[in-house]
Amino acid sequence: MPELPEVETIKRGLENNLTNQTIISVQRHRDTLRQPIPKELESVITHAKMIHFTRRGKYILIELNNQQTILFHLGMSGKMIVRPNIKDEPIVKHEHFTLITKEEQRLSYIDPRRFGMIDLFPSEENHTLLIHMGPEPLGDDTHQHKLFLHLLEKLKNKKQSIKVTLLDQHIITGLGNIYVCEALLLAGISPLRESKTLTKIEIQRIIQGIQTILTQAIAAGGSSMRDYVHANGKKGYFQMQWKVYGKEGEFCLNCLTKQKKSVIKRVVQAGRSSFYCDICQK
Ligand SMILES: [Zn+2]
Repeated sequence: MPELPEVETIKRGLENNLTNQTIISVQRHRDTLRQPIPKELESVITHAKMIHFTRRGKYILIELNNQQTILFHLGMSGKMIVRPNIKDEPIVKHEHFTLITKEEQRLSYIDPRRFGMIDLFPSEENHTLLIHMGPEPLGDDTHQHKLFLHLLEKLKNKKQSIKVTLLDQHIITGLGNIYVCEALLLAGISPLRESKTLTKIEIQRIIQGIQTILTQAIAAGGSSMRDYVHANGKKGYFQMQWKVYGKEGEFCLNCLTKQKKSVIKRVVQAGRSSFYCDICQK
């Protein structure tokens, strides 16, 4: 499933390649993904200019110069590819939607499992799916401080484990299982800790851990971004070396550097596997 760093990378690729381009042709190759593609989509977006590209959680938003915004979600297997348009080129396998610009670029939305979605909403409103989302995990110092105050408030009475809490999109948006496991290792916090027992300093360490792992993943993606955006990439996760995720039974590398031997453990929480080192994470 494309996670926040992959979605962010795709968003940046679209932004770099399509900003201020005008849509001249829209082709849908099927009517329904997770939900129907709006009937009026073609008539609303054709001849509009794409002026602003943003990401909210795992949604990509393309704001148009006609006060409308297109919303994309990549579901389990979606990707969006930009390449120069070649006249009469056949669509690729699982390409459900194609935009062609006056500047001769072609944006293809490809989704083999069809859990993604394409929708349209007025730019001055918020899409219903975005209204109840928690804050973004990434942002500048001001944003990080707001995020800290937000988490402090949300966690203070919560008995739920911090692992499950961080996966709750209403509390913080866009974090998947792998990134939460790795961020908690960086923070030195056990996934089993009750959220309300975390100190201010520990919450700061978690925010720092999340920031570090996502920034590294986006940087790893940045180096392969051309492939990701232009080719018919089969890549799932970027080439990241996970330290705990999927490492059950292996020695913790952090501990080995301190001449200690600790085996990575796995526990299932709310139906998802958590991987952790009980020496490094308390
Ligand atoms: Zn360890």
